[in-house]
Amino acid sequence: MPEADPALPEKSVIEVLHGLGRHWVGDGFPVQTLFAYPERGPELSPFLLLDHAGPHAFAPTTQRRGVGAHPHRGFETVTLVFAGEVEHRDSAGGGGTIGPGDVQWMTAGAGIVHEEFHSPRFAASGGNFEVAQLWVNLPAARKRTPARYQAITADRIPERTLAEGRARVRIVAGSFPVGSDIVQGPAETHSPVNVWDVQVVEDGPLALSLPDGQTALLVVLSGSLTLSEGSVAARDSSIRFTREGVRLVVGATHGTHVLVLAGAPLHEPIAGSGPFVMNTPDELAQAYADHRRGRLGH
Ligand code: MN
Repeated sequence: MPEADPALPEKSVIEVLHGLGRHWVGDGFPVQTLFAYPERGPELSPFLLLDHAGPHAFAPTTQRRGVGAHPHRGFETVTLVFAGEVEHRDSAGGGGTIGPGDVQWMTAGAGIVHEEFHSPRFAASGGNFEVAQLWVNLPAARKRTPARYQAITADRIPERTLAEGRARVRIVAGSFPVGSDIVQGPAETHSPVNVWDVQVVEDGPLALSLPDGQTALLVVLSGSLTLSEGSVAARDSSIRFTREGVRLVVGATHGTHVLVLAGAPLHEPIAGSGPFVMNTPDELAQAYADHRRGRLGH
């Protein structure tokens, strides 16, 4: 029985965050940044940033579209592909092509240099493209963990139903309670993090149980959600709930696509700039110096 128990204490809505504007990342990713740590660092922790690329129709091309080699240190990038194909290559030897339903969980850790492009096959065919990239912070003690790449194909992601079958949920990371059972997502994380991909197939209330004490966000990638006081969270907005409480209920219409993000806050200082997210300005300066010396990889 996947329904949230009505007797559980409720999480309440703190605010609805709106997209921070559109921009292109390289020539392959027409991105709307939905939230970012410079505005809401401690409140969003352990999440740092979410970019939503597309949906966008690309014409066929023989050119390489995307972003060339660039570094990261101190956090993880989680790339979820909904339409199109992304090809990845990194200095730790990770790489591959991820398509619709696949997720790439990349731990930059101590340092990585990678490139992100449309796959040659998708570039040649063109078509609809939609991707989300989430940045998850690493605890201070794990910021220098070796870089790692988890290619999580769609067939490894367990799917269950929610709200008496009115929604489907894919559990990418964390644990999803089903009655007395728990369904575990395949991603290995460095702190407690839940990432669920929810597709609403029928109108009606959507009840969820998320861990008490964890940051909790519902991100609307398409469609809309209705809050209890009647206001509507439209596409590309994120509803932030209280950490206290377990149960939350929103109204959902069919076709709505939601990312559910919940994670234990790190309660550590954030010093970030460009591709690096560390704890102190000194560590940030060190990251730039190490990258200049080629120590993050090639
Ligand atoms: Mn990157």
